Amino acid sequence: MTTIDSATVPALGYDELLAAITDPDGREILDPATGELVGRVHESTVEELDRALARAREKQPEWAAVPHAERSALLLRAADAVEASAAALAELLSREQGKPVHAGPNALFEVGGAVAWLRATASLALEPETLFDDESGSAVLSYDPIGVVGAISPWNWPMMISVWQIAPALRMGNTVVAKPSEYTPLSVLGLGHVLGQVLPEGVLTVVAGGREVGEALSKHPGVDKLMFTGSTATGKAIMRSAADSLTRLTLELGGNDAGIVLPDADPRAIAEGLFWGAFINTGQTCAALKRLYVHEDVYDAVCEALTEVAATMPMGEGRDEKNVLGPLQNRAQFEIVADLVEKARAGGGRVLLGGDPAEEQPGYFYPATLVADLDDGNPLVVEEQFGPALPIVRYSSVDEAVRMANRLDVGLGASVWGSDAEQVREVAARLQAGTVWINKHGAVDPRMPFGGIKSSGFGVEFGVEGLKALGVPKVIAS
Ligand code: NAD
Repeated sequence: MTTIDSATVPALGYDELLAAITDPDGREILDPATGELVGRVHESTVEELDRALARAREKQPEWAAVPHAERSALLLRAADAVEASAAALAELLSREQGKPVHAGPNALFEVGGAVAWLRATASLALEPETLFDDESGSAVLSYDPIGVVGAISPWNWPMMISVWQIAPALRMGNTVVAKPSEYTPLSVLGLGHVLGQVLPEGVLTVVAGGREVGEALSKHPGVDKLMFTGSTATGKAIMRSAADSLTRLTLELGGNDAGIVLPDADPRAIAEGLFWGAFINTGQTCAALKRLYVHEDVYDAVCEALTEVAATMPMGEGRDEKNVLGPLQNRAQFEIVADLVEKARAGGGRVLLGGDPAEEQPGYFYPATLVADLDDGNPLVVEEQFGPALPIVRYSSVDEAVRMANRLDVGLGASVWGSDAEQVREVAARLQAGTVWINKHGAVDPRMPFGGIKSSGFGVEFGVEGLKALGVPKVIAS
């Protein structure tokens, strides 16, 4: 089935890439920064989804029969292909999603992340494990492919999150049908097109479409495992849909990550890390810092240092090289952020920065906003803002901070900031989250399993644990 050809993977230009994935009769996709047309997308029907799944089913045994080493080599080559077309992919991502191309952790960073995860996933090994081998007999545990994997992704990091779902699925010998968000289909179609230059035909299909296509995928008996990243509400709907066919699930859902700044933290030293922890991708990040608890001893100094850093960060159209922050991706998200900031004001919050978006503007730009002196029950604290508005809550005892951090029904990430390594670790151990970072926030790594607890979902991605989630365990015992 596979022939790994050693020729250089071609570098696609932006126009060539766009021409390959757009449909002149398709739905318009507009740039969230300018309102200009980016391209037109063909949205698949449920019948087209059926056909894609049937094809994936047909191809799967052949793909599963490819030796591990060869599948790894293909993923490495897929990484080369993404790298070769990185400039075009980043421009497409920027124009569709809004994030700046160059500066900050933005579009080129995201495409680089896709490359890094493809390479890291290719290099993982999941060897059969001998559980015991003695006079009583032996038992060996290994992992078979599951079959056909459905991959449903959100609009915030569309290329990187799709790779998080697709790469381990393919690595384990599954075939994949991916459904991107209706807000960012071109990015994932573009990624799929580039990967398709290298992968055998039929092992990966990208099917653009709205919620009805997502819903059809999640209840389809032809899907053996569903990788879902998106909101908690959709995750619950998917779990209901998947019940009848007992489709296995990995659910990466919403978060409302807390950060705790301890009294011995150095406000100036941590300000930039706090800023990027909260405002990466203009706050549209699942594991961003979404509520900040600061001890009263350093409260004013942290507010001041963070305001100074945030005020220097240019926001604007993604192709302008100076910008590090972009617009919100869509009108609905803009309204959510604006509404939460108004509720924060009404609840007595002190706006340190931002809070006043320009009235007449073509794009969904909401300025970087910091709101201090908020009550822990304010909606900006307890609801996921998923945008550039950080609430800062004062506390006086570490126990109180831990209680506030843990009291919500979500647990994706959390962070602790301070100078005493032992105390920081002790507080980190008490926080309820899938990952707790120390003196940083949100830094994911392909070697570290990543996933949420409570309503942030279940199952993990990345590393060997992530590979196991794309296989079915099988014991051979004698
Ligand atoms: P969303 O749940 O609205 O949409 C996600 C995807 O699900 C889209 O492709 C959408 O078309 C599809 N979908 C919608 N309804 C569906 C249904 N009933 N059945 C099947 N599929 C359906 O999420 P979003 O607004 O795109 O993303 C933002 C949310 O995602 C935030 O809550 C954020 O925290 C979360 N998120 C989580 C992670 C993580 O790793 N835990 C990562 C990124 C984003």
